[in-house]
Amino acid sequence: MYLSDYHFHTRCSPDSAAPLARQVQAALAAGVREVCVTDHWNLLDQRGNRLPAVYDWGPSLDQWRAVRDGRPGLEVRLGVEVGNGVLDPAAVDACLELPELDFVIGSLHSQSAAAGGRGIFTVARECAKKEDGIAILDDYMDTLEELVKTAGWDVLGHVIYPLRYIPEEYGLDLRPWRDRLAEVFRAVIAQGRGIELNTSAGATVEQWREVLALYRDLGGEALTLGSDAHRPEHMAAAFPQAVELLKELGFRWLCVYRRRTPLFCKLDG
Ligand SMILES: [Zn+2]
Ligand SMILES: [Zn+2]
Repeated sequence: MYLSDYHFHTRCSPDSAAPLARQVQAALAAGVREVCVTDHWNLLDQRGNRLPAVYDWGPSLDQWRAVRDGRPGLEVRLGVEVGNGVLDPAAVDACLELPELDFVIGSLHSQSAAAGGRGIFTVARECAKKEDGIAILDDYMDTLEELVKTAGWDVLGHVIYPLRYIPEEYGLDLRPWRDRLAEVFRAVIAQGRGIELNTSAGATVEQWREVLALYRDLGGEALTLGSDAHRPEHMAAAFPQAVELLKELGFRWLCVYRRRTPLFCKLDG
């Protein structure tokens, strides 16, 4: 099959030191045929401060151009992961007017502005009781419903993101928000856009089961697969398990993108 890793980071992200050349080498070794580099462009920092609503494409473009042609057997595409783009959709759209750009992930790494805008990673670590985790998920769903109305993304990034960090002992999942999530997915599908299965460096495959089943039941087809690797050893992490899960749930395609438009590659082809 035409395996693709459509979510990973390099030293153009503040939280990764990996050169693109190393990430790409690791992907090739893992049997991947196409990658899309999706470095961070966050509109908020962990403390809730606004970051520039302009993305400097210079370093990303330089790095990508230096690597893309030198890898026989591997297609290297340019993307970006926009964090909380819902804060300034017009500024996001303006920065995405780049002919080299193939793909955009729309993610929420931070709480809503109304809730303070701090990083979900940070807020989740401060949880003292189950209700705190529920409040994070409530706010997350509010913001997701706003994000889905904006133009600046092709797939919603790691929809289960808060569950990565809310203490496991609370036993929370997205079932109480199922109806709201279904509405979000209906909008995604109606717009011809998609979601991703994000393995989070191999940590979250099984956690995706119910969310993906819901998306599939609603008719969702467009889906990318990403490792969210910040280091070479996590490129394509847990992809065999992820592909098995997708097949089991009835998915038939993995998407890659050209100029913000999906191409559907057979999962068992
Ligand atoms: Zn992310
Ligand atoms: Zn990421």
